[in-house]
Amino acid sequence: MLICAGALLESTEKIHRPGCLRINREIITEVGSALTPQAGEEVLHLPEITLAPGWINLHAHLELASLHKKLTLGKDFASWLEQLLSQLPALTPEVRRQSILNSTHLAALSGTTSILSILSQRAALAGLTSTQTRVWWALEMIDLHEKPSATELLDQATSWISRHPNAPWHLALSPHAPYTCSPALFRQLSLLSAQNHLPFTTHLGESTEESELLAGVDTPLRKLLPADLKRPDLAEKNSPVSWCCQHDALPANPILAHGNEISPTDLPFLKEKNATIVHCPASHHWFQRKPFPLTTFQSQQIPVVLGTDSPASSSNLGLDLRQEARLFQKSQPAVTPHQIWQMITTLPAQALGQGKTLGALLPGRWADWVGWRVPLDQDPISAILQSIEPAELTCVGGKITQHEKI
Ligand SMILES: [Zn+2]
Repeated sequence: MLICAGALLESTEKIHRPGCLRINREIITEVGSALTPQAGEEVLHLPEITLAPGWINLHAHLELASLHKKLTLGKDFASWLEQLLSQLPALTPEVRRQSILNSTHLAALSGTTSILSILSQRAALAGLTSTQTRVWWALEMIDLHEKPSATELLDQATSWISRHPNAPWHLALSPHAPYTCSPALFRQLSLLSAQNHLPFTTHLGESTEESELLAGVDTPLRKLLPADLKRPDLAEKNSPVSWCCQHDALPANPILAHGNEISPTDLPFLKEKNATIVHCPASHHWFQRKPFPLTTFQSQQIPVVLGTDSPASSSNLGLDLRQEARLFQKSQPAVTPHQIWQMITTLPAQALGQGKTLGALLPGRWADWVGWRVPLDQDPISAILQSIEPAELTCVGGKITQHEKI
């Protein structure tokens, strides 16, 4: 199939005007400004549309959208977490499944085609046959009360994925956080992730309460953990990153959500592990966190990408990465729109191990693209990031969805 558009943003370095894209099933086979149809080839004419790579959101909780505006900030992170825990019994598998469908639909409307989503309850997937975006289901594990069988969970999830060969789904592994997962569970998931080539993600350095807990200071977060919890590692006076280093808790290429609590001494370990930090500006703002330490990461060329987190702690119900980009630019005025574009395309693609399949529109890559109606005579990157209208079309793995306006 040949798609002929007004413009095509191949990457931040290259724009074609007009822009043409040839796809064969789920793969891009050709990109240029003057491709001609082959005999019998289907052609889609989009003269007023700009084609761009689909965006990649590396931190979301697709199951939790129904908690939007249900929780209040309270006085600390622990009180928010307590409210969240009290709401979980009402989140039936049906509610969670509906939330996944709504959230992926809204994310696709705003230009996202891939989401790394923390999956806390596998029952939420029952009856789900497809989603409008590609999803990496990050199997979340916690061992506060009982020890999950990680290999069994992974086997079950792998066979579930194989029963849905046409759904754009992948797997990942996620110990929740150092305060809810023992070093042994972290190490086991690290090993499984390396053996099976699965992305590994965890919450790290999110709140001051977490830092205090790992530093051996009394904090409200401790009261949420079982009173008889045997975790001598929590009394070792570590920072979140030094806890990971001390306990060999991370594999290579970990995707670390938040990274708000970081000190310069943590950087060599993160650099050595080739870590990627996921900053979620709307959630950061919602929790009224101290400024995000962007320059600390930049000083060591540690990649920072943008995510949305869940609407339970954010104003961003639609998981719209444009909202995150605009908030981020407001708090970090030195960052350019082109850098932000890389933070939602090429950098997260590399973090997922998909640097050669996602993030840019090039021959051989997956046909994951978005069609935007933005002025053709302007810089498409700034125009798209500033836009508020839904995308006109999205394509995931060669499957095109036209977003109709009613
Ligand atoms: Zn999260």
